[in-house]
Amino acid sequence: MIIAIDGTLASGKGTIARRLAAWYGLAHMDTGRLYRATGVAALNKQVDFTDSSALADVARTLDLNDYTEDQLRTGEAGQAASKVAAIPEVRAALLELQRAFAHQPKGAVLDGRDIGTVVCPEADVKLWVDARVEIRAERRWKELTGKGETLSLEDMIAQVKERDDRDRGRKDAPMIAAADSVLIDTSDLTIDAAVDKARAAVDTVLAQKSESSEP
Ligand code: C5P
Repeated sequence: MIIAIDGTLASGKGTIARRLAAWYGLAHMDTGRLYRATGVAALNKQVDFTDSSALADVARTLDLNDYTEDQLRTGEAGQAASKVAAIPEVRAALLELQRAFAHQPKGAVLDGRDIGTVVCPEADVKLWVDARVEIRAERRWKELTGKGETLSLEDMIAQVKERDDRDRGRKDAPMIAAADSVLIDTSDLTIDAAVDKARAAVDTVLAQKSESSEP
């Protein structure tokens, strides 16, 4: 079974993906890490962010073991990720890796921005996770300031809007809900409630599929 979870920044999609993977006994890939690592590697190597083929080389030769979670979760890494993610050659360089992961024998849970639309349009279940922008910005602001970054909530809201716009507006694989995805709005939900909703959505889709495949 392949579960595709897409959605906006700080919508809770990563937590939902991890918890669903544990519940259904599936492997999980946070595809944002690929773009974050590409962005961080490009910054470290001082690659010009307008040089598409050099950035694609960085993506192709990526070793995720070179980066700690702390290095990948900074605000700077997120901004760099969203910039390299807008480059088609970078996306192409990371595509097969994600597809191969999804198609391991038991299937997998992948979360990102284009899993249900581009990476795995054939996914068994597609979720689209979203929340109001002010709420998402506050979540991310608490996370980053809790780790010692200093920025105002207003600046965080502006940054989240900027990243949303870049992710939605890019030509290649824009962030958009797949037509056949189930929406989970986490604005007013606790994490547990959001995960319960996601699990119910997966179970409903699976039940429908098994009914329609019965002779
Ligand atoms: O989900 P996360 O915030 O870690 O993703 C960082 C950035 O990577 C996103 O803002 C987006 O630009 C990019 N991304 C993407 N496609 C994915 C996953 C992430 O474009 N499947």
